[in-house]
Amino acid sequence: MSKYSHIIFDLDRTLFDFERSAKEALQDLYTMYVTPHTKKNFEEFHSLYKVINDGLWNEYRRGIIPKEVLRIKRFAMSLEELNIHKPNIAAQMADMYVRITAEKAYLFPYTLEILEYLKPKYELAIMTNGFKEVQYPKLDRGGIRNYFKYVFISEEIGYNKPDIRIFEHAIKDMNTKAENCLMVGDDFAVDIEGAANAGMDQIYFNPAKEEGKHELKPTFRIRKLKEMEDFL
Ligand SMILES: [Mg+2]
Repeated sequence: MSKYSHIIFDLDRTLFDFERSAKEALQDLYTMYVTPHTKKNFEEFHSLYKVINDGLWNEYRRGIIPKEVLRIKRFAMSLEELNIHKPNIAAQMADMYVRITAEKAYLFPYTLEILEYLKPKYELAIMTNGFKEVQYPKLDRGGIRNYFKYVFISEEIGYNKPDIRIFEHAIKDMNTKAENCLMVGDDFAVDIEGAANAGMDQIYFNPAKEEGKHELKPTFRIRKLKEMEDFL
């Protein structure tokens, strides 16, 4: 008998191929809004956007900037980098980006199978720092919403992972204990350390098998979702 009763999944880069949908959405935006104003190609736009977006996401996660600023500023800064001074385009891109990414939902291989395998044995939950207007439609489009009894979206709860309070909120809401929960995620600092601080065991999903230097040893490491069947 497993000591776990609840399994909590991160969403982006854990169940959904976020890189692929984000890149396709940016490609669409580039064609619609950026091409007319620059000679830079898409790859150049994409790589500078990624750096800017990562930096702003870190600030958002730590509560330094609000969501609205993150949403628009990542495009405004990218355009500025390309010497395109059209702030109104940034706002349009921000709206369009949310719409397009919500529609592009690519599940990682074996997502449906592993959820099907786990559902009879455990209570399943989602915990994501993503935006609610993106994540709910994505769960529906991916056809996986019904596998989850609980969906914890940070902006609805008021705390972003790795803040211990979002984990505590989830434990309370699920009416369980930290030691009976298992957190599955791809981001070491956000999912794994966050869960560990809250007293939960963790599965570090690391498909690229990057060897980060981490003090903490995750409870489990997997490279494919299927590997969860070996111990759950
Ligand atoms: Mg993730």
